[in-house]
Amino acid sequence: MSADSPDPAELARLDEALAAVLPALETFNRFEGPDRAGRDRGQWAAELGEPLPQTGRGLAETLAILADPVIPNGLRIGAPGFAGWVTTAPTTAGAVASFAASIAGAQRHWVQAFNDIEVIALRWLRELLGLPADAHGIFVSGGAVANLVGLTAARQWAYERLGHDASGNGLAGAPTGRIYASAEVHHVVIKAAAILGFGRHGCVLVETGPDQRLDVDALRDRLAKDRADGFVPVAVVANAGTVNTGAVDPISQIADVADEFGAWLHVDGAYGLFGVLDPSVESLYDGLARARSWATDPHKWLAAPVGCGAAFVRDAELLARAFHDEPAAYIEGGWKQGEVSNPFDNAGHLMKDYGPELSAPSRGAGVWAVLSEIGAEGMRARVVRHNGYARHLAQRVAQDSRLELLAEPVLSICCFRYVRRGLSDASLDALNAELAAALRASTPYIPSTTRVRGRLALRPCYINPRTTLAYVDGLADAVATIGDSL
Ligand SMILES: *Cc1c(COP(=O)(O)O)cnc(C)c1O
Repeated sequence: MSADSPDPAELARLDEALAAVLPALETFNRFEGPDRAGRDRGQWAAELGEPLPQTGRGLAETLAILADPVIPNGLRIGAPGFAGWVTTAPTTAGAVASFAASIAGAQRHWVQAFNDIEVIALRWLRELLGLPADAHGIFVSGGAVANLVGLTAARQWAYERLGHDASGNGLAGAPTGRIYASAEVHHVVIKAAAILGFGRHGCVLVETGPDQRLDVDALRDRLAKDRADGFVPVAVVANAGTVNTGAVDPISQIADVADEFGAWLHVDGAYGLFGVLDPSVESLYDGLARARSWATDPHKWLAAPVGCGAAFVRDAELLARAFHDEPAAYIEGGWKQGEVSNPFDNAGHLMKDYGPELSAPSRGAGVWAVLSEIGAEGMRARVVRHNGYARHLAQRVAQDSRLELLAEPVLSICCFRYVRRGLSDASLDALNAELAAALRASTPYIPSTTRVRGRLALRPCYINPRTTLAYVDGLADAVATIGDSL
């Protein structure tokens, strides 16, 4: 507490506070030594799990606890051997920019630089990904909400065409709507159908072909049947990189079917939209610009700090009809029209009317910083390198009779397993699950697992900027060696 402040919280001295935790952060970021957070949980959880302090212990002691045991027992998701799910830790520029935003851009609104940075970062992303100029962007917490935003716009559009204002009046009395996606779609899309009032079962899962891509004929058949039964085709979702195998649905053909049935086309590219930067797979994205909405996750391949997804919707006014608040006396009522003299004269670039949140951090700061630092070519190089890692691993698998490829890599995911002659699929599933646990227990190589056509697969997904080729080879070696020993 400063001498002249009535508040118990320290209000300044950022430099001293940062200095108190920076050594712990630097050490953490080197990912050295065994990861003890799991094994030592009993110890640090007991230390942290104390009752609410009635008298505060002050800043110095609080930061000391942050420095140890909190930071050393954090999540090593950025360690170079980590390749699980589709998640990683931020690089330096994004982390520092988002910290700076928490101080100097503590809300994304009003007339200030962090408000402009939201718009600039969205424009840069749109250009990077080749989305059309009329795609209106909004930052949200991640892919789950980005998909929800796109599908909320779809619902508004689909029912306006039938004379119903879904956001204004709800859907009582309107015909039942459905959302269509492949069986490989991320479960957040199914949840979005639930939130939007169609129910989880209102998200129709269409079968996929042997390449895990949506079967377009099956989609057309199902839409025709549902149309005959009176259902409204609200949206068709195309995956631009499924979370399981990285499959990219045939977007252009799906766009044809969506047009045929008057359905909105939404692209879930939370993971894989950045894949379009790799010239060797770019053609898989043909038809991308025909969609009306797109979801992508800067906190995945771009390695912006977690908590950053982006939704783009072609029609900004439609999006506002879906999401706007009624003007409030305590917000719009206080805005000054015309020239701005004070930052608080108005909201600046308005975000709140295009998505579910009001207060929010400037998530654009992290995106802006990464793209400013590495540029479009830096990001392209990362994507090309990571896609190359998955193909390199697939080659290693092909050369080793103990390993079996379960899905040909499309982007940066390689699904494979350890095999032993004479074992049933069920036994191989158990063996590979044990192998995955052994990798976590005794190696730096951490893939996650999934199922490909029912078979348990080891599933490294390379989006981590810190991963090098040595870690890809290291995983292949470790799987073979540990598999032999089980
Ligand atoms: C990660 C992912 C999501 C969910 O995104 P979150 O950022 O975790 O909310 C949705 N779809 C796909 C394809 C994903 O990879």
